[in-house]
Amino acid sequence: MRWSQTLIPTMKETPEGAEIPSHVLMLRAGLIQQVMAGAYTYLPLGWRALRKAEAIVRDEMDRAGGVELHMPALTPITLWERTGRKEAFGSVLINFKVRRANREIHLALGPTHEEVITDLVSRFVSSYRQLPITLYQIQTKFRNEERPRFGVLRTSEFLMKDAYSFDTSVESLAASYDRMYAAYCRIFERCGLEYLAVEAESGPIGGDASHEFMVLADNGEDVVVHCPACGYAANLERAEIGAAKSGAAKAIGSATLQKVDTPKVGSIEQVSKLLGCQPAQMIKTLIYVADDKPLAVLLRGDHDANEGKLRRAVGATKLELASPAVIEQVTKAPVGFAGPVGLSIPLWADRDVAAVADAVVGANEADKHYTGANLGRDFTVAADHFADLRNAGAGDACPRCGQSLALRHAIEVGHVFKLGTKYSDALGAKFLDDTEQQRTIIMGCYGIGINRILASLIETRHDEQGIVWPMALAPYEVLLAPLNVAQEDVMQAAEQLHDELTAAGIDVLLDDRDQRAGVKFKDADLIGFPLRVVIGGRSLKEGKLEIKWRWESEPTLIPLEGAAAALAELVRKARETPNTAK
Ligand SMILES: [Zn+2]
Repeated sequence: MRWSQTLIPTMKETPEGAEIPSHVLMLRAGLIQQVMAGAYTYLPLGWRALRKAEAIVRDEMDRAGGVELHMPALTPITLWERTGRKEAFGSVLINFKVRRANREIHLALGPTHEEVITDLVSRFVSSYRQLPITLYQIQTKFRNEERPRFGVLRTSEFLMKDAYSFDTSVESLAASYDRMYAAYCRIFERCGLEYLAVEAESGPIGGDASHEFMVLADNGEDVVVHCPACGYAANLERAEIGAAKSGAAKAIGSATLQKVDTPKVGSIEQVSKLLGCQPAQMIKTLIYVADDKPLAVLLRGDHDANEGKLRRAVGATKLELASPAVIEQVTKAPVGFAGPVGLSIPLWADRDVAAVADAVVGANEADKHYTGANLGRDFTVAADHFADLRNAGAGDACPRCGQSLALRHAIEVGHVFKLGTKYSDALGAKFLDDTEQQRTIIMGCYGIGINRILASLIETRHDEQGIVWPMALAPYEVLLAPLNVAQEDVMQAAEQLHDELTAAGIDVLLDDRDQRAGVKFKDADLIGFPLRVVIGGRSLKEGKLEIKWRWESEPTLIPLEGAAAALAELVRKARETPNTAK
């Protein structure tokens, strides 16, 4: 391809509204163009990179036994009503009515395709002989994103690979899941991404049933809890806290319980400021409603409740923070003054609460707190109501090895999940087993955000000059930069190299613009082609070409004679090591 024949609108300045490197660089390198908030055109270079990511995903899905199909983005709302997800998605589900002849038809743009695929399988799969099967597609998905931002990382329209496995047993599902998990590892390795597979919320199957594939990046919106010592990794919802530092011995205080005035001051920060104490000396009391029954949760003032852990500890199916009305009813005080002393609903406590002596707590009375509150004397929590109920923090003990945990920002690029029978139950996907018993099909679902592969890659592989593409996803592997396009011998050498490399199956772009070398080199570094070949100047007179890898600082010379074969060989070698650029 010749530069002058394609469309590569590079930019010198940082575009307005672009906050993070991947967004800035994708715009500046001419990979994408914003059409409106959260909607981008992939320009020729961006589209080539995206298609390469897609091809790797497809290749590995096929290798893992997945079968590709294609479902419509436009779906009937009735499918979403049957599973209750019209309501569960709420405003995220883009849906609208259109007129067809005299009828009004209610449609939704699929944010995911469990409903469509399960309905399909319920129609055509009826026997255990047809199972297991894993079906997948690569398709545009739609979510009404409240705050589209960070370029292609958070958009209302995005390209997803979504796969769904259908099995006859939990054991068979585990095998399908493991195949997908292994395929995901190969995909991200081939793309040159450094990722972590982190434990995530397990859902209905329980156990080790869900993993998120995360790329560690400072601008990532997710937080991963990671143990550098043993490799334990989990997302914030899921991460357990080891017993080594938590659950410390019960502290006994000596202060007397005293009611103090805290007028119009209800938050932890305000109270600690007013009373001159640290948040860690306070015990906060949160009122939840678990399966329609109120309960109180005690946490150290500087800790955050983890609702997933709380729901599991309490054994509730539905759990939410109580409304102000419920809080006022159970505490007899306005919101902000709840405390454990004298509270008559069940009390649960995070393990760390036991170590807080002479605590400051709400007094269940407007504008009042207690100081000197002590567990066991002023309020009690049953021994089996102590649990790990908070989010892990940096420095907490690893649940596996006891060393300190670290918190890292990350971008989620993939997710594998054991679904169970939620959709097959709702949509009647059943099979006859080998004893002619009718049973429900057990499902798993597996997603990869293709756009996010590009964004997270650029987020983690760039320098001050621009993107540093790995071979696997680079829009073009080799850039040919003739120094003076008006010079006949220069262009002749460049054209010949272009044709020979193309014939050898190498992705080549020939920068045939009549531009100064400085302009060409700047653009080459900004876009980040892995191998730059300079043709012209003194080197060419000496029968040589100057070549430079994007990730190396100095160029080297190779003979013009036989250059195409030598370059092709270099490219093939570089393709075999996805992480060369690091
Ligand atoms: Zn560890």
